[in-house]
Amino acid sequence: MVLKDNPSEEAGPQWLDSERGTQLIGWICLRCGQRGVPRQRFGCERCGAPGNEIGETRFEARGVLRSFAEVHRHAKWPVPFVMGEITLDDGPTIHAFLDDEVAWHPGATVVGQAGERLLHSYVVFTSGEH
Ligand SMILES: [Zn+2]
Repeated sequence: MVLKDNPSEEAGPQWLDSERGTQLIGWICLRCGQRGVPRQRFGCERCGAPGNEIGETRFEARGVLRSFAEVHRHAKWPVPFVMGEITLDDGPTIHAFLDDEVAWHPGATVVGQAGERLLHSYVVFTSGEH
């Protein structure tokens, strides 16, 4: 799932900027504690709790790059662009845009921040190593 600024009116924003950097808005099951990204109110994938037992939680937009791919063909988006599979320090694994100016390698530390991409606002991850 690519994090996009406003996929639907009901879903609301998928991230926010804080003094600690960009934070992703996810969900937490109030029954069993399972958490995930992006936010949703359908119910818990682990224990089956209904949507009214799903709350909101935040994840730091930082993690480790597991894999990545440069996309050269896409039905809607201008190409090429780079997508990464990122395991957040807070647990969930997500798919997100990567900074295409970086020579990526699996295991790289990444940090995300909101940026313009493909005519919309997305969280784009760049190198977290300095
Ligand atoms: Zn649950």
